[in-house]
Amino acid sequence: MNQLLSATGTTIFTVMSALAAQHGAINLGQGFPDYDGPADVIEAAAAALKDGRNQYPPMTGVPELRRAVAEANRRFYGLEVDPDREVVVTSGATEAITACLMAVLNPGDECVLIEPLYDTYLPVVRLLGATPRLVRLAPPKWELPRAELAAAFGPRTKAILLNTPMNPTGKVFTAAELAFLAELIQRHDAYAVCDEVYEHLTYDGWRHIPLMSLPGMRGRCMRIGSAGKTFSLTGWKVGYVTCDAALQPNVAKAHQNLTFTTPPNLQRAVAVGLAKEDAYFESLSAELAARRDLLTQGLKGLGFATLPVQGSYFVTADIRSIGYAGDDVAFCRQITEEAKVTAIPVTAFYAGENPPNHYARFAFCKNESVLREALSRLGAWIEARRAAPRAASA
Ligand code: PMP
Ligand code: GLN
Repeated sequence: MNQLLSATGTTIFTVMSALAAQHGAINLGQGFPDYDGPADVIEAAAAALKDGRNQYPPMTGVPELRRAVAEANRRFYGLEVDPDREVVVTSGATEAITACLMAVLNPGDECVLIEPLYDTYLPVVRLLGATPRLVRLAPPKWELPRAELAAAFGPRTKAILLNTPMNPTGKVFTAAELAFLAELIQRHDAYAVCDEVYEHLTYDGWRHIPLMSLPGMRGRCMRIGSAGKTFSLTGWKVGYVTCDAALQPNVAKAHQNLTFTTPPNLQRAVAVGLAKEDAYFESLSAELAARRDLLTQGLKGLGFATLPVQGSYFVTADIRSIGYAGDDVAFCRQITEEAKVTAIPVTAFYAGENPPNHYARFAFCKNESVLREALSRLGAWIEARRAAPRAASA
């Protein structure tokens, strides 16, 4: 069997969701909303199931969605995109990431990855026979380590994979950080695979800036969006790649060999979603900011130090701040089993040696009552540990 796949574990999101189900825990692990997406988008999908367009759509996506992706690029970022030659619709951002890496990497190439990193990046780079070059951001500020990044680029660098807004850190890369990356990418004649699934989930005035919008970057970036995140419909698995017409044929050929097409009905509904008024996108981030505040304030009230969240679905809490002496994996298991609340250990986002092991990631894309109940359960658990510290295992 394939050795790289045999050596790859089951994703932490599946592992922790199964554990949550087993223990009847509130699942603040895997990042999915517990509320539905916009009614008009769902209605559009239902209608699109019934009007007879149920056969294979065009390989790169239905024209309605490709046009909507191009228009959204123009509306939000001022990017002019040709819907016929510069867009590929995929079955989720997960497929898009793989397709973009396949589009540019040859065996022996190097690909720069930034830790903490989403768990599909590294196995795909390795499966393609390329060599990952890991560069680590350090908590609590997650600042770009410029010297290390510059050192990771070299004559064999083919690409960098950039995730902003970033999972699990909640970091939104600044214009200055992006300019630094753009200079490196140009100097080394490299490409950038830009995982921007949380593009519309930013808070406190932080705005997402696509690397593609920086000078010199238009032809080097493959920019990935996800309807799952933008419309709170994570099960739909509709993603979209925007890239230069010179790159698009290879992305399309990767897609042709992965899934070939994506369900046409969902694509047409996502086109309706992307055309929604600005107020939709504003309220999406405003509502998530309120959920973030509820969970963050609540965790702080329980004694957790939390890291700032500029974007994404996630807040990271320092488990040492409540006196927990074990590591993040033990903590996430223990709160699932005992407090009946699930989180994700942040070490799952590292591949290199000695990652920081005292952070847990909590998803806040949940109903307020659920967040409140989770906080109350965690509070009771912390109280019980204080009352009987020796009974606690860690
Ligand atoms: N990239 C990041 C950073 C993510 O958090 C996720 C999680 N959904 C994905 C990609 C995958 O997106 P999709 O569900 O559209 O495949
Ligand atoms: N992106 C989601 C997260 O980080 C999980 C998606 C998945 O389960 N593959 O929680």
